[in-house]
Amino acid sequence: SISAVTSPFRGYLNDLYEKYKSLNDGKVADYIPELALAKADWFGVCVVSRDGQVFEVGNCDQLFTIQSISKPFVFGLALEDCGRDYVNSKVSVEPTGEAFNAIVLDEVTNRPYNPMVNAGAIATADLIKGNGSTERLKRLLEMFRRYTGREHDINVPVFLSEKATGNRNRAMAYLMLNFGMISDKIEETLDLYFQQCSILVNARDLAMIAATLANGGVNPVTRERALDERYVQDVISVMLTCGMYDASGEWAYRVGMPAKSGVGGGIVSLVPGKLGIGTFSPPLDVKGNSVRGIKVCEDLSRDFGLHLFNAA
Ligand code: GLU
Repeated sequence: SISAVTSPFRGYLNDLYEKYKSLNDGKVADYIPELALAKADWFGVCVVSRDGQVFEVGNCDQLFTIQSISKPFVFGLALEDCGRDYVNSKVSVEPTGEAFNAIVLDEVTNRPYNPMVNAGAIATADLIKGNGSTERLKRLLEMFRRYTGREHDINVPVFLSEKATGNRNRAMAYLMLNFGMISDKIEETLDLYFQQCSILVNARDLAMIAATLANGGVNPVTRERALDERYVQDVISVMLTCGMYDASGEWAYRVGMPAKSGVGGGIVSLVPGKLGIGTFSPPLDVKGNSVRGIKVCEDLSRDFGLHLFNAA
């Protein structure tokens, strides 16, 4: 296990960093100007074991916006707020194979396909309880504090930019309103969705979030529960089937870890019962996943036999 080889593992991580730091493929997201400010050579990798040991290399303090990585955790809070049956009646858990921003709903039930695509994430945000947008955002920030052990804030310019340019997401929200899948508080829910995407995290936070899930929903350092144990499995399953955009099947096949990526360049991945991984490197491949982040997770999976279906 990783904890049994503490110091060799630090050396391993340093080698991994060196191996991929000059891999210059991919493109930094630029659909809003604020994201294009990210430096292509920012690169951080952090691993947190289930017992709270932290191993890190590179830019693990650099803050960036969590973006789509927020989606599984907001899904977890929606499950706590509304229960599984109600949440399932509003959002399916079926992978799409389509782009994350596809304007498509299930033809039979009119539900968005899963909580990881934008339509499903907006329907999920709609379920978050609280009196008005301020209180609902506060509950999200408070949830992320439980996962990471640290206070969080949003990047306001990113939020305002997402809001100003988010008409495609607005269109999905109205389509879902048409089918009675979400409440009519459209702008409030979209604000919450854009704000959840704008939450600032670093690679260490991502690893701590992942380790918390790997530890059954309890932060391994603070010992605080972040997610009701009844819903840990729900969150991890949708990460496995839908977490890496329309490359989720290939990721499950090659890496075999439940994961979620975001256009800010982060990836959260985990080995249930063992450890959490956070990677940060802004250049993305054509599917929207961090190029260096994928490489790091592929290597970790192969070198430590972390693939979920490794029967060795
Ligand atoms: N804020 C983005 C959007 O709604 C999400 C980007 C992502 O996939 O990380 O379009």
